Amino acid sequence: MTVLRKNLIDGEWLGEAGSRNINPSNTNDVVGEYASAGPEEAKQAIAAAKAAFPAWSRSGPLARHAVLKKTSDEIMARKDEIGRSLAREEGKTLAEGVGETIRAAQLFDFFAGETLRLSGEMVPSVRPGVGVEMTREGVGVVGIITPWNFPIAIPAWKIAPALAYGNTIVFKPAELVPESAWTIVDILHRAGLPKGVLNLVMGKGSVVGQAMLDSPDVNAISFTGSVGTGKRVAAASVEHMRKFQLEMGGKNPLVVLDDADLGTAVDCAVNGAYFSTGQRCTASSRLIVTEGIHDRFVDAVKERLDKLVIGDALDAKTQIGPVVDQTQLKQDEDYIAIGRQEGAELAFGGDRLERGTPGFYLQPALFVGSSNAMRISREEIFGPVANVIRVKDYDEALTVANDTPFGLTSGICTTSLKHATHFRRNSEAGMVMVNLPTAGVDFHVPFGGRKGSSYGPREQGRYAMEFYTTVKTAYTFAG
Ligand code: ADP
Repeated sequence: MTVLRKNLIDGEWLGEAGSRNINPSNTNDVVGEYASAGPEEAKQAIAAAKAAFPAWSRSGPLARHAVLKKTSDEIMARKDEIGRSLAREEGKTLAEGVGETIRAAQLFDFFAGETLRLSGEMVPSVRPGVGVEMTREGVGVVGIITPWNFPIAIPAWKIAPALAYGNTIVFKPAELVPESAWTIVDILHRAGLPKGVLNLVMGKGSVVGQAMLDSPDVNAISFTGSVGTGKRVAAASVEHMRKFQLEMGGKNPLVVLDDADLGTAVDCAVNGAYFSTGQRCTASSRLIVTEGIHDRFVDAVKERLDKLVIGDALDAKTQIGPVVDQTQLKQDEDYIAIGRQEGAELAFGGDRLERGTPGFYLQPALFVGSSNAMRISREEIFGPVANVIRVKDYDEALTVANDTPFGLTSGICTTSLKHATHFRRNSEAGMVMVNLPTAGVDFHVPFGGRKGSSYGPREQGRYAMEFYTTVKTAYTFAG
């Protein structure tokens, strides 16, 4: 029997059954039943967050530290159970689900520490007898809108700093993954947050999300999702003169040079392009390979893809789980058809797979003979699909790598210090990896991109403070 998960508004669990979500590895398996908020509930949640802000913003470091630390400890203690539930609702493997849960615990732990490290500056004014004090204050009510691909880590890396720096929150998770969102809110609530400080409004983006965008009482919005919705967030936020931060798509290049260690390059490509079913904004979707290693690299990647175990996310042997849902599966298949029409050669995979249970299983797809001008090179597919672009040398590889509307991550596999150094400096991406997959980042350092991938200050690490605080400069005349 499924339990109805409700929305949390002003400290109360509210709402009637609205939606069910299903396990993408087995569509007969209903994960849970969830309340679905409408515009009125969104308004109540915003009002509750607004009312809770003055007290929470003045609560002091110890109260915030206690809640964040307790939350981290509970998530860590329940990592296997939460990780399994995450894998069940999103379709990433058990190992990835547990790993992501641990990441969430680490994020809460990091920001628990940050509450105790807040500082300011004091300087003499140019006017004798006057002191100037610079401090940081919370921004107010923060709207947090998250996507389905990291159901617990992305909410954690937004909620933890928002609370640490004294903000109150209205949190709208993606429709496909309410269970992970509900779990994290339940833990935070029980950890002792005062009512109204954190509000959960599960529901449709076009209804609940839009109500947040349209409210003059939401002082900042942190959004991760598609470019299209990101632009709506931006336009609505400018209208209200509010702070906003966007993390959107990627079309991340992995450059493989002739002098690369082949084993490392294949590991980076297969991990970066296909793990988590390719559903990461940091996935390596363009494999840019120089002529001398091209054929050996392609053969070795195909050999590795052939051995990957694709199946039920909850089976411990599975290395690649299903695609998240029917809509995403159709998008992946449409792009595979587009790649073929554009003249790229499908060198491996791309077919639907049958498994013991009805699920959205897709064989990883590898295109060769593609150009950087093709749609499969320019548009984010967000599935287990990558294409190899053959280039003459390093210079051409760098040009192709940077020739994209996006700029989240990039990577290079090489044993040349000269090329690695040049690439680090000249890659137009927010995060650059040398001999590492483009996906897979630490929790204590900044995350974010350039160009069409991101907008606003970086997330995570101490840099998160830029978005979740505003600076006050105070002048005092002491005579
Ligand atoms: P994805 O392709 O990753 O699902 P979306 O941009 O559609 O990307 O969704 C990311 C988040 O944005 C989800 O929580 C979704 O519900 C929300 N969202 C979708 N439409 C809107 C909207 N009009 N206003 C605010 N949020 C929205």
